[in-house]
Amino acid sequence: MRALFFDGQVILRDDCPRPEPRPTEALVKVVRAGICRTDLEITKGYMGFKGVMGHEFVGVVEKCHNRQWINRRVVSEINISCGECIFCRSNLSNHCPSRSVIGLKDRDGCFAEYIALPINNLHLVPDSVSDEEATFIEPVAACFEVLEQVHIHPKNNTVVLGAGKLGLLMAQVMKLHGNDVTIVAKHPEKLETAQQLGLKAYPASEVRERSKNVIDCTGTPEGFDLAQRLVIPRGRIILKSTFTAKAPIDPASIVVNEIEVVGSRCGPFRPAVNALQRKLVDIQPLISGRYPLSRGLKALDQAAESSSLKILLTMEE
Ligand SMILES: [Zn+2]
Ligand SMILES: [Zn+2]
Repeated sequence: MRALFFDGQVILRDDCPRPEPRPTEALVKVVRAGICRTDLEITKGYMGFKGVMGHEFVGVVEKCHNRQWINRRVVSEINISCGECIFCRSNLSNHCPSRSVIGLKDRDGCFAEYIALPINNLHLVPDSVSDEEATFIEPVAACFEVLEQVHIHPKNNTVVLGAGKLGLLMAQVMKLHGNDVTIVAKHPEKLETAQQLGLKAYPASEVRERSKNVIDCTGTPEGFDLAQRLVIPRGRIILKSTFTAKAPIDPASIVVNEIEVVGSRCGPFRPAVNALQRKLVDIQPLISGRYPLSRGLKALDQAAESSSLKILLTMEE
């Protein structure tokens, strides 16, 4: 089968073996996939990953022991955990030390015609959620993770740093609370997209007051530095960026101002499906391009351009 494979460099392969699902797994025919910033980090050596890339997708179950799943449209949680360790038994399976992660750690991803996945990881996609919307379920779930971790009081203002793919989703999810949400970003076109989505959006130079909650979605080391400057005393910095570089930190200012710093990764799928089904999160302005898998290398190049938002891959030519 055809797949985008990383092995020190990205290769479009036509000879990848079609995965053979185990008895607890389903074989999913991938329909569409989304390129995430983390995929671009993988191509720079992040996580030391080798294999089929990609972790955001929607597909249709083609083969499964449990026939109820056959021909159903699905998305999948990306962490595959052991189910037995203390983390798995404490409802923290995303932190299972022996987990694999599709397209990121010890497990082939979804930039391929087929992927095999544990049935336990699958979620049905309602008919009213389009294929394109469904490819955003995984990143929207990552935004809801913030609300699983901390209590954002509706009366407090929230700043989202970065108007990239994640920042634009995060601000929409945070707005569901009635919070005063502002996006702070550099790129003029992306600020405009944020405004189109009904979000307040400014460059950092125009921000006049600091905020209780600052969520870094810049995907860069500079995001943490800016967050430390924009948060009020006793405020909270939530870090969503994954990158290989190290970030500058001013420990004294965090101590003196009693800042809470929260790292945040993958999140719950159910609220993400609900939000997309009820059209509370608009993904259309976030799509910058669509490519067939056969043009996957070009798609990755476009995804790496600073003006690009989400690039989607279509598995059928
Ligand atoms: Zn991602
Ligand atoms: Zn485990």
